[in-house]
Amino acid sequence: MDEQKLPFVVRKTENKGFGLFATKDLNAGDEILVEEPLVSCQFAWNKLYKYLACDYCMKSLETAESMSQRLTENRSLSLPHPECCERNVAITVQCPQCEITYCSTSCRDKAFTEYHQILCPHSQYCSPEGLEQLDETWRNIHYPPETATVWLLAKIMTRVKMEKNKAEFISYIEEFCHQCKNESEEIVHKLLGDQFKDQLHMLREQLKSLFYSDDIAHWFTVEGFEKLFALLGTNQQGIGSSALSVWVHNCDNLDLPDGQRDQLDTFIDKLYEDLEKVSGSFLNCEGAGLYRVQSKCNHSCAPNAEVSFLHNDHRLTVKAINDVAAGEEITISYLSECELNRSRHSRQKHLRENYLFTCWCKKCQAQNGDPDVTSDEDSEDDMDDT
Ligand SMILES: [Zn+2]
Ligand SMILES: [Zn+2]
Ligand SMILES: [Zn+2]
Repeated sequence: MDEQKLPFVVRKTENKGFGLFATKDLNAGDEILVEEPLVSCQFAWNKLYKYLACDYCMKSLETAESMSQRLTENRSLSLPHPECCERNVAITVQCPQCEITYCSTSCRDKAFTEYHQILCPHSQYCSPEGLEQLDETWRNIHYPPETATVWLLAKIMTRVKMEKNKAEFISYIEEFCHQCKNESEEIVHKLLGDQFKDQLHMLREQLKSLFYSDDIAHWFTVEGFEKLFALLGTNQQGIGSSALSVWVHNCDNLDLPDGQRDQLDTFIDKLYEDLEKVSGSFLNCEGAGLYRVQSKCNHSCAPNAEVSFLHNDHRLTVKAINDVAAGEEITISYLSECELNRSRHSRQKHLRENYLFTCWCKKCQAQNGDPDVTSDEDSEDDMDDT
């Protein structure tokens, strides 16, 4: 997207930091922003469980058929309409030194200039044992369902070493950290649980021994590291990619005679049932990324825009879901669909604990008179906690 032609401006708000404001009338369905992350990364367990993704852009690299076979544990499963699978000729590119896989030479080259020159296990600058240890420490702290990854920090720290303009890159990262001490502590505790001080210390020591440089010495102090870690919790955006979803999407768009359409729909419904039985809801390559512009888009419990991943990789799209008038703030939801349907009290509690603000959107204002009740699902969560 041409920066000049973006249909919004980023500006400071009275009480919510930055926000995105429409500069022209937008219609439901309009594309507002397409953005590549500053850095992105697949989750550690997701990778370990062989959800094969491009190490640079997170594109799902299996064919839709091999993905379905793996996730249903049915090796003889075959998918109709192979032409709907965009990865049918599964071309992958490897690092010439190690096993790491990319979707294209362009991703391999970008990875090499940004971080892989240092993170490649065969590089003279790399300590493969150190990286393995870091991965293991992280996996032992953070079990699925995964919501964060220490690898984002590892990639950021490596980028600092590789960047020509280090000061600029560091300032981009520090734009994300704006919590104060107590708030950072709260977020990190939420991510790591009761042992957080010990675990955080361990991660800090391991990252320091791998990636320390004078330019970022302040990231390795107790307080600096807490802040850096908290930025993961409050700013990272989850990413999902799946060759199978692309296949389903393309199948939906096929122009078929009625009989064949019904047959295909029945096949897809049955496939999802089988997937659910064996793999539950873990169907996608999952990871997280940091997006400079999207991270400035504020939350509303009645949002007028949504985030999606339409390209089967880490490129994020923000689309209007309602008409937005020029001058109006563009908002997305930080809550899942199911969390959005909970009571005002439950929504606000979740947002306060995870994003450190009390929501005062139109919907929250309209429901201000509602009693402070916790939605049923939340009471169950609370009981689980005790
Ligand atoms: Zn790629
Ligand atoms: Zn390599
Ligand atoms: Zn709200």
